[in-house]
Order: sequence, then C-alpha cells, then structure tokens
Amino acid sequence: MKIVSIWGSTGSIGRQTLDVIKNHPDNFRVSTLTTNSNINLLIKQIEHFRPRRVVVASSDLRARWEAELKERGVDVFWGREGLLEIAAMGDEDVVVNGLVGCAGLESTIRAIEAGVSIALANKEVLVMAGEIVMKEAEDRGVEIFPIDSEHSAIYQCLRGEEIDRIKIIYLTASGGPFLNRSATEMKSVTVEEALNHPNWSMGRKITIDSATLMNKGMEIIEACWLFRVRPDKVRVVIHPQSIIHSMVEFIDGSIKAQLGFPDMRIPISYALAAPERLEADYVRPIFNKPVQMSFMPPDTEKFPALNLAYEAIRLGGSAPAVLSCADERAVELFLNRKIRFDHIPVIVAQVLEKHDVIPKPGLEEILNVDNWVREIIQKEVLPNLKD
Ligand code: NAD
Ligand code: MG
Repeated sequence: MKIVSIWGSTGSIGRQTLDVIKNHPDNFRVSTLTTNSNINLLIKQIEHFRPRRVVVASSDLRARWEAELKERGVDVFWGREGLLEIAAMGDEDVVVNGLVGCAGLESTIRAIEAGVSIALANKEVLVMAGEIVMKEAEDRGVEIFPIDSEHSAIYQCLRGEEIDRIKIIYLTASGGPFLNRSATEMKSVTVEEALNHPNWSMGRKITIDSATLMNKGMEIIEACWLFRVRPDKVRVVIHPQSIIHSMVEFIDGSIKAQLGFPDMRIPISYALAAPERLEADYVRPIFNKPVQMSFMPPDTEKFPALNLAYEAIRLGGSAPAVLSCADERAVELFLNRKIRFDHIPVIVAQVLEKHDVIPKPGLEEILNVDNWVREIIQKEVLPNLKD
C-alpha cells in the first residue's frame, strides 16, 4: 500500500491519477489533494478518496469555503504557503505533481528535501530548475518518476541500459493541430482551434504548448535533466499517430521504443508502480484494426519553439527558466485574446534576447525570473510587437 499525494488533483493529470488509484484501491491510499480553485470537484474527490488534508491555492476562497471543507473531516490549507507547508510534511511515499507552470517549483523542492519521491508531470519544474532539482534528488536519494508520456517511454527503454551507450533519444511529437498549416496561416489561428488537440485531451496551457511545439521544446530540456544526456543527443521526430511515445537508439544501431494507446493513465500508473506494472482493463487496444505509423522531421521554421529551447539550453543558467516563464505568460495572453498565436514564440525569443543570463542561479533567483519576465513583456515586448 503506497501513500500518495496528488497536487493539482482537479486538473487533467490529477483526475487521471485518481482514476488509476480508483482502479487499484488495494495498492494506494490518498493523503493530500490540492486545487487552485475548483472546490466543487475537490469536495467530490474528498468524499470518494477520504484524504487526510487538502490545499486550496486561491486564498480568496477561504471565507466562503473553509467551514464547508472542514465539515468533511479534512485539514485545510490555503494559498502558496499552504502548499509549501504540506510539501514539507513528507509523510507520503510519493507526490504526483500535476500542477502547471512555475506554481509547482518551490513545493517540489520542499517535498524532495523531505525525502519524498516525485511522480512528475509538471515539466516546467525541470525546465526552470533542473540542476537544483536533480542535485537535491540525488543528494537525498529521492527518485523522480516521469509522467510525461515521452519521458516515461524513454525511462522504460533505458531500464537495464547504460546512459553512455545512448546514441540518440528520439522524442516523438504528434505535431499538434497545425502540422499541415502554412506559416502564414498560423497568424489567423483562433483560441478554439489551438485548444483542439488531435490525440490528447489535456489542460489548456499544455494544449497551447503542444500547438506551438513549445511543449516539445520543454520536453527536450526535461529529457536532458532526467536522463543526464547532452542536448545534441535529443532529437524531435514528428509522429502524428502518437502510438510510439519515444525511442532510444543505442551505439550499436539498435532502437528501442515504447508504444501504447495515447492514454495518460498508462504513464501515470507506471510512475506510481515502477518497476511493477498495474493491470489496466480500461486502456483501448491499438492493433485490432489496420494501423499506419509515419515519421518526419519537424519544420523548425514554422515551429521556432524547438530551436528556442535548444538556444535556452545553450545559454544555460537562468535562460531555460526565462523560456518557461515567458511562454507561460505568452500563452496566458493568447488565451485571453490579447496576442496572436504566432506571437507566442516571438515573445519568448525577444524576452530571451533581453535577458542577462545568470550562470548558476540559486532558487531565489530562479523564482524571481517570473516577475522580471512579466515586467519586460508588459513594458518592452508588447508595445513593440510587430505584425
Ligand atoms: P490542468 O490545467 O488540467 O491542471 C492543473 C492543476 O493545477 C489543476 O488542479 C489546478 O487547480 C492546479 N493549479 C493551477 N494553477 C495553480 C496555482 N497557481 N497554484 C496551485 N495550483 C494550481 O493541467 P494538466 O493538463 O493536468 O497539466 C499539469 C502538468 O502536467 C503540466 O505541467 C503539463 O505540462 C503536464 N502534462 C500534462 C499532460 C496531460 O495529458 N494533461 C501530459 C503530459 C504532461
Ligand atoms: Mg509529453
């Protein structure tokens, strides 16, 4: 029986994690659930999973909801501070981090310091502070289990293998909804079109990131940290069917791949149980009908996000954190219909260019990046955005 906390339990990853746990009641017990503001769903989850404590990140909801939550027999924590407090308690076996963006960084480090393993979906944590997070995990002997489907695939391909025998890691990418649109057509992409991903149903930010391929860019950085490989060993290959979740080529020319129906419950259950495997009757079959699989290199002119990610790694230090925060802000602006879709990578590129890289940033400096990025975008980038 593993004790599991789920951060962001009301989100796409959080809900799918609870679905896996619901199917395996003898294997897991839920300790903590957290939400930003979706209290109605949180209450349903409390009633079903009976956690010991919950966190609501939006403190402004406290007056309205505190009594109602406490009535349900849970300890209730509020705001960013509340998340940090429960993260440091360390009385679970594993935290599933399904938070989005930079909100999950500090608490992840707290949980690692408390000796708790992390099943990580929130890739921005590694993009922003991979060096600090991986070092802390190594020092404490804490495991980071990837939930991201590509990294789960690579993790599985690398079992029993030596890192120095890797020739290339092929990160597969569906290519998103605009794979076949021209660069000029990208100017007219609407929010609704961008939110309509062909293969996966996910939260809003990662869905937009998948349409710009910034998600894949961040996954390159995530792979470098998780598997301790140089960026020139990580290559993106477009595979629109999302059946192969990633591949590793070894020095002898042999390539291992991991396949499966595109269902995040598969990598989530592996992150929770590895090296064990859990029965999953709910997963749909793939090969019960004819299947075609295709592969092609990405068009980096149409999707500049990929090269921006390589550039952020090359710059090193605080640059990947800037990439992540600038993208988070740009996506928010696009979702609020303040900028065009094709402005997202333009904004990220301009912010990266304006940044004086801090070579070995501490956590405080990384956390400050977000404020700096927001200010620069507001004051210098948005007013000068060209057509
Ligand atoms: P989501 O938007 O569906 O869920 C995010 C969760 O975090 C929600 O529970 C929300 O209440 C909470 N949250 C949001 N902002 C918060 C804040 N400021 N403070 C505290 N809590 C906050 O997102 P998602 O699709 O589940 O993605 C979560 C993470 O997993 C992202 O980093 C994403 O890139 C990664 N990921 C998701 C998928 C997927 O299929 N959804 C696949 C791979 C990786
Ligand atoms: Mg992924």
